[in-house]
Amino acid sequence: MARKIFVTAALPYANGPFHIGHIMEYIQSDIWVRFQRMQGHALHFVCADDAHGAPIMLKAEAEGISPQALIERIAAGRPQYLKGFLLSFDHWYSTDSPENTQLSQDVYARLQRAGLIYKKDVEQFYDPLKGMFLPDRYIKGECPNCHSKDQYGDACEVCSTVYAPTDLINPYSTLTGARPVLKSSAHFFFRLSDPQCVAFLRTWLDAPGRLQPQVVNKAKEWLAGSGEQALGDWDISRDAPYFGIPIPDAPGKFFYVWLDAPIGYLAALKNYFTRGKARSNGEARSFEEFLAAPDTEQIHFIGKDIIYFHTLFWPAMLRFAGSPYRVPDHVYAHGFITVSGEKMSKSRGTGISPLRYLEIGMNAEWLRYYIAARLNASVEDLDFNPDDFIARVNSDLIGKYVNIASRAANFITRSFNGELKFGADAVALVDAARTTAALVHASYDAREFGKALRDCMAVADHINHEFDARQPWVLARDPANAGELQQVCSRALFGFKLLSVLLAPVLPAVAERVARQLFGLGRAFRWSDAQELPAHINPYEHLMTRVDPKQLDALFSADTAAPATAAAAADAAVGAAAASIAGGATASAASISIEEFRKIDLRVARIVQAEAVAGADKLLKLTLDLGGQTRTVFAGIKSAYEPAALQGRLTVVVANLAARKMKFGVSEGMVLAASGDTPGVYLLSPDSGATPGMKVS
Ligand SMILES: [Zn+2]
Repeated sequence: MARKIFVTAALPYANGPFHIGHIMEYIQSDIWVRFQRMQGHALHFVCADDAHGAPIMLKAEAEGISPQALIERIAAGRPQYLKGFLLSFDHWYSTDSPENTQLSQDVYARLQRAGLIYKKDVEQFYDPLKGMFLPDRYIKGECPNCHSKDQYGDACEVCSTVYAPTDLINPYSTLTGARPVLKSSAHFFFRLSDPQCVAFLRTWLDAPGRLQPQVVNKAKEWLAGSGEQALGDWDISRDAPYFGIPIPDAPGKFFYVWLDAPIGYLAALKNYFTRGKARSNGEARSFEEFLAAPDTEQIHFIGKDIIYFHTLFWPAMLRFAGSPYRVPDHVYAHGFITVSGEKMSKSRGTGISPLRYLEIGMNAEWLRYYIAARLNASVEDLDFNPDDFIARVNSDLIGKYVNIASRAANFITRSFNGELKFGADAVALVDAARTTAALVHASYDAREFGKALRDCMAVADHINHEFDARQPWVLARDPANAGELQQVCSRALFGFKLLSVLLAPVLPAVAERVARQLFGLGRAFRWSDAQELPAHINPYEHLMTRVDPKQLDALFSADTAAPATAAAAADAAVGAAAASIAGGATASAASISIEEFRKIDLRVARIVQAEAVAGADKLLKLTLDLGGQTRTVFAGIKSAYEPAALQGRLTVVVANLAARKMKFGVSEGMVLAASGDTPGVYLLSPDSGATPGMKVS
């Protein structure tokens, strides 16, 4: 029976480009979706930009544009990532849409009729200059515990104390600097603590296999909380000015963005139906009929940071809104991605820019393969390790898998006109393929991608081992061995076809080229192709190159190469900001105050030692003396300077730049250099007389 599955990935907030965490989640869900499609199941894979809320409204205001113009710009940047990483969403939409307005207001009206909405006055900080209530993150002040200045309204970054914004000493609005005043306003609440909600959630959480065990435990903890930790009702309204969906019959009130964001999953699905895309994907029913059908499955892939919303509010809202709304069949949570063991952080430069990954010509399927190899069904974090990445791509993906075809196909093409031949062992070969396919099937279905790939690589090892043991290059010397040579190579190529089918969810482009070019199938692989003996191959064409370690240097070095296109530059503006001093900064940068300039601690430094870095074509490793203090800095100046010529020279360094972990070590600052449209990099030097450690201002 073909399953009918509606799958979503978490909606990205539409105030900036995708980061590597988004791409990891989309790759995870895309692999699962592609695997299910290969079984012949009907998949509807949709997502949308999460476009509402105060941060988007305020960012647009700061840029002097409308929120709609801001989210349109962000939306225009999405396709290059989705295409670039081979993400096969059937539809991508926005929560700022007529469908979402209609569905959100409908869900709200139904919850109201069910007696689960009530109104209560709430006292909150209000910015009298701006004329708006302030979300916690727009209020700062002195920590009531450790008295650190400029702490946010919800928690202190210095001593980690959590508090209410009203606890801050000398609070101020980050929007205007004004002292906020307490003001009362009516808010709408969803009665999550209602006994019928709690009873429903207990049953929903207990359904076998619905959620990962770690997620069930966490959700039950929240559900059972008491005292301060008691399950609270949910404030679902915000006061104007707010960029969001108006609450019916409540002038000046809007739905809190977290109410309309998950409903955006359904709004995207509805738009997918009304545009006829569902029909062309084999679904003849209407949106409402599809959603209400008992055999429809609704599955959400999410990050572990939004489990609370997706396992408490969201199922309860859907349950009590009633048909055609359905509760999620599964919510699958994943961990975060770390880089070399460190949590992603832009300021420390340990993040991977997905756009940069594509722009420097790295292959999307390398990343898909690496992420799949590191993923399992738990909510554990996943670590991106550059050396491990190189090893898995070059040794496993190319060395074990791709090489089978490149080695075996030439014998068949040259000596046997592309014809494959199997001996008496044909039945056993097909049986073994069927067994392997079933094993890998179970792993993909359970999102144990790492195990699926380990099983694939074990098969690849076996094929390579057998191929080497029969020494086809020796067999080829004597025409009397032609029959054996043909069978040895045919077995290897059947194994390669099996692997190509099993890896197709992870490597969709490579697998499709194998299906169409090498095996002349005229279509992409289906899962059942794994056990079909091929009769003929076309000449082998190159499938994939190895990763060059220099590409990882380029990926982690923010000091080289500006984005290639203007559109990309706009989209990558946040990530590229740190590169502007060493790279080609334009003369039209926004003005800054003298106070902002003074934050940069510029110092004279002596280059004590300069050396090339093995494997890096642009970098020199500099050891700097800042007047008694020694620093290591990696600088992208290798093309312009012989290391020996730099030793003893004075230059200027940004001394308080956050240390950045690079592939070769930690860079503890940045030396200043000039560059322009013409080639060349020119290191700055102070006039004679300056000494290491002197401040530059
Ligand atoms: Zn504190």
